[in-house]
Amino acid sequence: MQAFEFLPARDTHAAIAAAARSSTAQQGATVRFVAGGTTLLDLMKLNVERPALIVDISRLPLDRIERQRDGGLVLGAMVRNSDLANHPLVRSDFPVLSQAILAGASGQLRNMATTGGNLLQRTRCMYFRDTAYPCNKREPGSGCAAMEGANRTLAILGTSEHCIATNPSDMNVALAALEATIHVEGSRGARQIPIAEFHLLPGSTPHIETVLEPGDLITHVSLPPPVPGSRSCYLKLRDRASYEFALASAAVVVKLEGDKIARARIAMGGVGTRPWRSTEAEALLVGAQAWEPAFQRAADAVLRDARPSSENGFKVELARRCLVHALKEVTQ
Ligand SMILES: Cc1cc2nc3c(=O)[nH]c(=O)nc-3n(C[C@H](O)[C@H](O)[C@H](O)COP(=O)(O)OP(=O)(O)OC[C@H]3O[C@@H](n4cnc5c(N)ncnc54)[C@H](O)[C@@H]3O)c2cc1C
Ligand code: SF4
Repeated sequence: MQAFEFLPARDTHAAIAAAARSSTAQQGATVRFVAGGTTLLDLMKLNVERPALIVDISRLPLDRIERQRDGGLVLGAMVRNSDLANHPLVRSDFPVLSQAILAGASGQLRNMATTGGNLLQRTRCMYFRDTAYPCNKREPGSGCAAMEGANRTLAILGTSEHCIATNPSDMNVALAALEATIHVEGSRGARQIPIAEFHLLPGSTPHIETVLEPGDLITHVSLPPPVPGSRSCYLKLRDRASYEFALASAAVVVKLEGDKIARARIAMGGVGTRPWRSTEAEALLVGAQAWEPAFQRAADAVLRDARPSSENGFKVELARRCLVHALKEVTQ
């Protein structure tokens, strides 16, 4: 691990100012905020992340969950994943979010992990985490060892010839289905970014994963009010029952009117280079009878552009079954 400067931030403004000053003074030197540290410190030990400055945001007062006047929720960036998943308002109004978080990592990790850190967790592609291998995401232009290597767990949707890494977060999939907004503050002021625009496809620049600019701090995430009468669930399929990343997962939020679907929100995890919302599948479901043929058509729409690699062709069928099963769960 290389030497770095460590700066505990007193407040949000001090954190943003320190990050901005450092980037300018050291000609773009890498600055990282540390929240729970469960991704960042691992990657520093592996020499994958080599920040010159770490700004500790763990004591910032961004740890509240608050009800909005319209019934939506505001989730502070420093809210721990355990607190978020177990909060009574989240459990009652946004169960898909609670289920997604509890399906991830372990109790100890969720006690440390935060909303902001989870949004920005890096891929689990083994070549990204091992500096002995070429990886365009870690070292732009070096190549991609996964293309002809161990790619069983990697993405089938949104890939490019430069990177096929999966976004590994469960929470992000639920936030995509819930149409969350990410609130950011940086040297250019405050911005709000819909989650659908937050994570980028790899294209030819897989090292650029989000629309954040250097030194941008996520302050909170907001959720629109729950839709009365809707039901939701998160289904995660993986190699073992706990402490494992998704091979395929589905977050679905559906409202029925009689036996027809009046509203649907669908996002998938474990298969995309970013949390994979499918508005096409949602549109196909609206007005359809809530039965398996309609769910299969929705799955067709999600997976039509799937491009499997040498070892992960099984994910196409797995993702199909995952989505169909989740839709059955919420419409029974
Ligand atoms: C063994 C293991 C198993 C896991 N299994 C799962 C799983 O099954 N499912 C799953 O979804 N996740 C899993 N995770 C990942 C875990 O959820 C993430 O490590 C965690 O959510 C990251 O949060 P953190 O607060 O610790 O982030 P940190 O490590 O503190 O930060 C991560 C990144 O986010 C940046 N950052 C953090 N907060 C902010 C902010 N407010 N503004 C701007 N930048 C910020 C940091 O600079 C850093 O780049 C696993 C992790 C481990 C180690
Ligand atoms: S898939 Fe992406 S993260 Fe994995 S080796 Fe290739 S470029 Fe790196």
